[in-house]
Amino acid sequence: MSLIVTGSIGIDTVITPVGRAENVLGGSCVYFSAAASFFTPVRLVAAVGEDFPDEHMGVFEHFDIDTAGLERRAGAKTFRWTGEYQQNMNDRETLAVELNVLGEQLPPVPEAFKDSKFIFLANTHPSAQLALLEQFPNAELVVADTMDLWINTAAEELAALLKKIDGLVLNDSEALLLTGETNMVIASQKIVEMGPKFVVIKKGEHGCLLNHTDGVAVLHAYPSGNVVDPTGAGDSFAGGMMGYLASDQVSDHLDLGAIKRALAYGTIVASYNIESFTLDRLREITREDIDRRLAEYADIIRFD
Ligand code: AMP
Repeated sequence: MSLIVTGSIGIDTVITPVGRAENVLGGSCVYFSAAASFFTPVRLVAAVGEDFPDEHMGVFEHFDIDTAGLERRAGAKTFRWTGEYQQNMNDRETLAVELNVLGEQLPPVPEAFKDSKFIFLANTHPSAQLALLEQFPNAELVVADTMDLWINTAAEELAALLKKIDGLVLNDSEALLLTGETNMVIASQKIVEMGPKFVVIKKGEHGCLLNHTDGVAVLHAYPSGNVVDPTGAGDSFAGGMMGYLASDQVSDHLDLGAIKRALAYGTIVASYNIESFTLDRLREITREDIDRRLAEYADIIRFD
């Protein structure tokens, strides 16, 4: 089933305890689309500036992402983000952020994308998320991501968005900021009361908590000894999850069981993503690698 995403396309500088990457390709919808493309075709609507390096376009070709909705905007500059991770590889600080084109209007949705049924609103300004969503009144599944910047600076737009989506994906510190609750079970319940049918709270290496109107689930992260750069872990997790849900075998029965399996796929794609800076590791792997690690992960978490 057709999956469409909007979010940020960024030029990132990332510092982690094991190294540093300057001016590499990043952005929420880039990690998301690459991850989802292992499961289903992906359509992207987003803008970059005229400074966007040509060499980064190769990534969209590699993952066969439909870029008919990608605009290189004259006179605008690409979104830029610089972040540094602490020794524990979980906590990070944003050292610099330049919204640039991310603060402007979204490009128009191409006519050929208008039949999209699965929508992912990756991390970007909630007004841009709302603007995309309004164009898909017949969507079957709408899921959004958000972050502290938008919870702090665009609370009203975010509240309006929460009333219109089926699912929200966010991390534990963002859930605390949004609800004031330190207990994630209570925080997730409060978020469901704000509008969505389900919420997935990501907890870094501790995995994720799903609170759905039909039940609750928890999944640990894949135990990895090879963490190079966690950037995009959340977006690639969401991409694996949504890509699986939108795939042909699954998209007709989106019950709690399907969402749990989708979380497992998201967990595995994210575990590959963090093994390199930018999208280098995702570029090396295939769907077979994902399925192999998923089987290994299922053995790790299964008990009698
Ligand atoms: P994640 O590690 O999954 O939270 O995603 C990190 C990616 O999000 C980086 O590649 C950044 O370019 C992008 N990013 C950072 N801050 C923002 C923001 N405020 N809005 C949208 N994207 C952002």
